[in-house]
Amino acid sequence: MLESISQFYHSLNAVGRTTMITTPILLLAVVVLLVLERRMPYRKGLPFFREGLFVDLFWYTLVQSYFLQILIFGFLIAPLAKHFGAQFHIMDSWPVVAQVAFFVVTHDFYIYWFHRFQHSSAFFWRTHEAHHSGKQVDWLAGSRSHIVEIIINQTIEFAPIVLLGANPVVVPIKALIDAVWGMYIHANIDVKSGKLQYFINGPEMHLWHHADHEEVYYANFSTKFAVWDWLFGTAFLPENRKPQRWGLPYAFPKDYFAQHAFSVVRFDEKALAERSAAFRTYHGVRWRVLGWLGQRVPAAKVLQGWEVPEDVHETVPAPRPGGNPTAEPAVASESSRPAVTAAS
Ligand SMILES: [Zn+2]
Ligand SMILES: [Zn+2]
Repeated sequence: MLESISQFYHSLNAVGRTTMITTPILLLAVVVLLVLERRMPYRKGLPFFREGLFVDLFWYTLVQSYFLQILIFGFLIAPLAKHFGAQFHIMDSWPVVAQVAFFVVTHDFYIYWFHRFQHSSAFFWRTHEAHHSGKQVDWLAGSRSHIVEIIINQTIEFAPIVLLGANPVVVPIKALIDAVWGMYIHANIDVKSGKLQYFINGPEMHLWHHADHEEVYYANFSTKFAVWDWLFGTAFLPENRKPQRWGLPYAFPKDYFAQHAFSVVRFDEKALAERSAAFRTYHGVRWRVLGWLGQRVPAAKVLQGWEVPEDVHETVPAPRPGGNPTAEPAVASESSRPAVTAAS
C-alpha cells in the first residue's frame, strides 16, 4: 500500500506532488478547526448541522469550486498565458517562499479594496450578499461566494502567478493558504489574539463583519491581514461585546440556484414555491433527500429548514446598497436610523 502510494507520488509532476501534501494538511486543518469550535465556541450552541450546511458543502465547496477551477484555469488563464506568457518571466529566480509571500500579500491588498467596493456598489453587492446570507457562521460559511465574485477574484489571484512566471507549485500552496485562512476567519472560535489582531485577521474581526449591525457594515473588510482595516480606518473591534444579529436584514433564498437567480431578479423564494409547481417539484427533491437524512440523523433535520429562528432583535439592521429588497418591516423606522458612516 505504502509502496503504491510512493510510486503514484513519484509519477506526478511538481504540482501534483505538492497537492498530495497540501490536501492532507487541508483535511487536518478542518479537523483542528472543528475541535476548536467545539472546545471554545464564539457563539455557544451553534450546531454542526446548521442551516445551509448542505448548500455550502455540496454546491459551493464541491460542485461550484470544481467547475470554476476548470473555467478559470482552462478558459481564462490558459489563453492569457498563451498570449502573454513568455513576456513576463520575471520571477524565475525568486525562491518559492518569496513568491508565495509576494502573492499572498498583494492579493490580500487587492481583496480588501474589492471587498470594500462590493459593500458600497449596489451592482457588486449582488455578487457578495450570498456570502453574508448565513445566520450561523462557522468554518464552512466562507465557502458561500457568488460565482461572479469567485471568477473575478480567482482570475485576478491566479493569472499573475502564471503570467509572472512563478513556480507552478505556488498555485496549490496559495490555494491551501486561502482555504485554511478562509475557514479560520469564519470559524466559530472565541479567539483573543490581542495585539496580533492588528496584523493577522481572524474570527475576532471577521465574525463581526458577518453581523447584521449597522455599526460594522462598513468595517472589517480584511481577509488575511487585518492591518488593512487598521491602516485605512475600517477596523471595528469592540471589547467584551459580541454581535446579536447575523446575516442579512432581508429574506434571502436558501437554495443554491435560487441564490444566484436572486442576484439577477428579486423574488421571494417561499412565495415562488407556493406559486410554481415546477419550482416546488425541484425543491421537493431536496426536501425529500434531506428529510430522509433527517430521519436517520436527527441533528441533520435543520438542513431542511426555510427559516432560522432569530431570537434577538434589539439592534438596527444594516441597510444594503440598492435597498433591502424583501425586508420585513425594520426594527427601527427609516427616519430613526443614524446616518451610515465608516467605523473607525
Ligand atoms: Zn463582506
Ligand atoms: Zn466572510
